[in-house]
Amino acid sequence: MTASPALGTTLQPATQAFLQHAPKQLLIGGEWMAAASGATFDTINPATGRPLVSVALAGDADVDQAVQAARRALEAGPWPSLSGAERGNLLWKTAELIEQHADELAELETLDNGKPLRAARHGDLPMAVRHFRYYAGWAGKLEGATIPVAHPDQFVYTLREPMGVVGLIIPWNFPLLMAAWKLAPALACGNTTVLKPAEETPLTALRLGELLAEVGFPPGVVNIVTGPGVPTGAALAAHMGVDKIAFTGSTEVGRKVMAAAAAGNLKRVSLELGGKSPNVVFADADLDKAIKGATWAVFSTSGQECVAGSRLFVEEAVYQPVLDGLAAQAQRIRVGPGFAPKAHIGPIVSDKQLQTIMGYIESGRSGGAQIVAGGERLGGELASGYFLQPTVFAHQDDSLRLVQEEIFGPVVAVTSFKDWDELIARANRTRYGLAAGAWTKDVSKAHRFARAVKAGTVWINAYGLFDAAAPFGGYKESGFGREMGREALDLYTQTKTVWVSL
Ligand code: NAD
Repeated sequence: MTASPALGTTLQPATQAFLQHAPKQLLIGGEWMAAASGATFDTINPATGRPLVSVALAGDADVDQAVQAARRALEAGPWPSLSGAERGNLLWKTAELIEQHADELAELETLDNGKPLRAARHGDLPMAVRHFRYYAGWAGKLEGATIPVAHPDQFVYTLREPMGVVGLIIPWNFPLLMAAWKLAPALACGNTTVLKPAEETPLTALRLGELLAEVGFPPGVVNIVTGPGVPTGAALAAHMGVDKIAFTGSTEVGRKVMAAAAAGNLKRVSLELGGKSPNVVFADADLDKAIKGATWAVFSTSGQECVAGSRLFVEEAVYQPVLDGLAAQAQRIRVGPGFAPKAHIGPIVSDKQLQTIMGYIESGRSGGAQIVAGGERLGGELASGYFLQPTVFAHQDDSLRLVQEEIFGPVVAVTSFKDWDELIARANRTRYGLAAGAWTKDVSKAHRFARAVKAGTVWINAYGLFDAAAPFGGYKESGFGREMGREALDLYTQTKTVWVSL
């Protein structure tokens, strides 16, 4: 497949070669192979609504093969005898290879997910590289402890051992980056892995699989199975040979993953789930900065971010100027194909997701919220893709679905508040607790807000910043376990206590 004129670009030769070699196959035990059933599915370019390439659809038998390959690689062969430092070297080389192939990987991300090429190339790609470098550093530093016990004749120490075979199930909004979030710490800790990318966006994970073989990871250490939630993801979540599942996705599916673990082998589970994050503009804030910050808190990646600042609370005294400013900013955002150099945001990832978002917009309208910007799908040249205007609603009713449920699209619900107690009660009135933001010049107010809000991450006078070193995860129904930073090592290791009689 070569560049379509609708893409508005000529793809790199490496990207073209990758797409031409189709259907894309599963990576199992170091071999690329078709699904045992021969089944495939198409991945769709959301900018055009047209199929990009067909991909193997892994069923139960393929997932089983992948888990067995991961088990073999865990227990025999070179991987279990590599030192942490040697694993670190492999991770470091992975970072270098991703950097060398960054242009091509960014193009694949834009084709598959729709995000602007600039965002993929200068956002997702460097962050993925940073994750591999950061955990390369940890691989040789997984220390146990010596434990003073009440038995003078005993020497007690702990070992930190890998969990074993780890299933990694990821969503479509940051496909390569989510793979990096999970693979880098899992491999640093000595696990073997079966990665299941989202069915909407499998391509960069598959290209990464090719690069990992070049790096020199032994066969079976990273296996990749592509396909939808059912059967592929469900087969992995239920598999008795999987020791742990690290899942990122919706709260609804997270529950199913946990239920499958509970009904089966009690595999360990960590969950990074949805959000409905409050973002607060206090009257004393730098309003220009706050308005721009609130705009990008919700509209970057077309709102398809788990941390999207989708509930905006504005202190009454500045409510109208902030609402007007936000609406003006939203109207200035250029929505277009990811390869259009001037596009700020791209399409919604799929027709299904677009319809879900349109349903929320309709529910807001009919529920009495007022649209102050956007609200429509884009037509004309963009009609075949899944493009949606950034949408701003004003409301005073926190019970609306628009305000309570995760939309995962470019829609913000703006409301005013009068005082602190009201704000904190309303900000926390959600089943989610992933992130929050506040804009204020008052340092003590900022810190009080950070303590009062029930969220795993709080940004003050900023929004949506991430780093491989900073732990990230949810309160409440946004999940549990912390990815990134030192804390992610706890997700991928278990402690063994050894007693030695002296
Ligand atoms: P999703 O839950 O529909 O799918 C996520 C992954 O789970 C996909 O790979 C999917 O194929 C798989 N899956 C679906 N059904 C399954 C099943 N029964 N068993 C096992 N796996 C199954 O989510 P999505 O639509 O891809 O992504 C959007 C969601 O992800 C949003 O809720 C968003 O908030 C969340 N998200 C959270 C974070 C975070 O770090 N907290 C980050 C990104 C996205």
